[in-house]
Amino acid sequence: MKPPDPNFGSDEPVRHVLNVSGGKDSSAMALLMAGRVRGLEHFRQDGMEYLFCDTQKELPETYEYLARLEAELGSKITYLNAKAGFDHWHKVFGGYLPSPQNRWCTKMLKLKPFEAHVGDDPVISYVGLRADEDRIGYISTKPNIKTRYPLREAGINYQGVIRILEDSGLGLPTFMKWGRTNSGCTFCFFQTPFEWVRLYETYPDKFEEAMKYESTDPNDPNKQFTWMQEGPLSILLDPARRRNILTAAVKPRGRSKDRTLVGALTGNSASQNEACLMCQK
Ligand code: SF4
Repeated sequence: MKPPDPNFGSDEPVRHVLNVSGGKDSSAMALLMAGRVRGLEHFRQDGMEYLFCDTQKELPETYEYLARLEAELGSKITYLNAKAGFDHWHKVFGGYLPSPQNRWCTKMLKLKPFEAHVGDDPVISYVGLRADEDRIGYISTKPNIKTRYPLREAGINYQGVIRILEDSGLGLPTFMKWGRTNSGCTFCFFQTPFEWVRLYETYPDKFEEAMKYESTDPNDPNKQFTWMQEGPLSILLDPARRRNILTAAVKPRGRSKDRTLVGALTGNSASQNEACLMCQK
């Protein structure tokens, strides 16, 4: 029986739930909450439930990294699948692709399965927001779900996350080696043009699959369903354009504090990164 928690003001036992995304931040947070970070062992929370909301459109490296994280934690990660997948909701939303302004994908494929899984139980949900990030993220607002931000509580920033992952032996997710910054769907709209180019070069079949979701009506400016703001993915089929994007991404970027290879390659410094907390951290 799990103990009651003073946060809920009742005697009801509380579930402790941590959503991992297959990305670096939530993985570092999982290690922190497992008591695996030296000097911060007091963060350890016994009885933690680890969840992964699987859109089935994730990168292959995400599944591989989750398997390694599971072994590192010595705890099972439960995979949750939405009853209806991306293609179903894409039809329901009339062909509109999700975007930062309309994240129906996160809501239907990540948030809803999570809320259904925990039901009405009192829950503390642990979210991987770092100390150097200034935002709330896309989280559940159900009254029985309270949110904690352990990385922020512990003052752990971008470099701290990298250190935790290196010290544990887990290392960074391998998709970061080819230039993808975050986990999440292969076609996620949070990608930079650089990341799209690298997806094209690394997984041409997945790039092609992403292209098939796009549609543009030359007679109706309101019917331009593309993943990138810059235009349809087909513009990246031009080798000169791809070369320009890659060249621009590796140029020195002024006095940026982000000196990591990934930051330099993607142009995504720790503070610029606006990825979705629910599925990519
Ligand atoms: S990873 Fe991107 S596309 Fe996938 S559910 Fe999250 S926000 Fe949507």
